Amino acid sequence: MSASNTDFVLAVEGLTVSFDGFKAVNDLSFYVDKNEIRVIVGPNGAGKTTVLDLICGRTKATDGSIKFRNRELTKMKEHQIVRAGVGRKFQTPSIYGDLSVFENLEISFPRGRSVFGALVFKRDAEVLQRVDEIADMIFLKDLLHTPAELLSHGQKQWLEIGMLLIQDPELLMLDEPVAGMSVAERRQTADLLRRITRDRSVIVIEHDMQFVAEIADKVTVLHQGKILAEGSAEEVKKDEKVIEVYLGH
Ligand code: ADP
Ligand code: MG
Repeated sequence: MSASNTDFVLAVEGLTVSFDGFKAVNDLSFYVDKNEIRVIVGPNGAGKTTVLDLICGRTKATDGSIKFRNRELTKMKEHQIVRAGVGRKFQTPSIYGDLSVFENLEISFPRGRSVFGALVFKRDAEVLQRVDEIADMIFLKDLLHTPAELLSHGQKQWLEIGMLLIQDPELLMLDEPVAGMSVAERRQTADLLRRITRDRSVIVIEHDMQFVAEIADKVTVLHQGKILAEGSAEEVKKDEKVIEVYLGH
């Protein structure tokens, strides 16, 4: 199959990155549909985070192609990739602790930041409405004026997801978003992810197989930079190779 022109939101083909001769991602190909939640699982060091680094332009590919809505990302800079509609959440939250939930969302609104990072725009109705909508979606509507540093670990993770959502990315990538969350928070996060894919695609790296089964349309199992298996959560859980290198541990 050629990705030269596809209906896939994301088409990754032959993607390879070599760190001093070590191929952390090795001739990898996969395709993500519109409105899909794709979960990437695999043992530590499999190359999961590196795949997200490659897609968001933080790491340059040695070889291969990443097409997002038929635009080649491997040639673009990180900020251009963000502007093209790809949002990425890292493992550790990067919120502003001394700012309120409201302010964190407000500065993340696309028009909210000048080139100098200052708040220069009027708080117009559009921004207020969008902040409200997002706060509601991420379960923080009653905490709008709380300083972010006072939020629980799980609430901080939601806030960061909200800061990405307010930019309305067409592809959202989350690296272990429920790590350290309570069971109740995990359930709420699963619900949140299902709601946000009504208008976008999501790639999630996750270890908790119960959470994976709850959210995944499709699971890609990575091992040594290559795909070990791909399919529904049910299918990959039964896969002998997956049990041997990943689930059996
Ligand atoms: P995962 O997220 O699946 O645990 P990573 O993508 O973080 O795995 O790492 C995959 C492999 O690539 C690991 O062996 C890691 O040490 C190596 N690696 C990742 N980034 C770099 C880098 N910038 N330079 C050298 N090696 C790296
Ligand atoms: Mg990782």
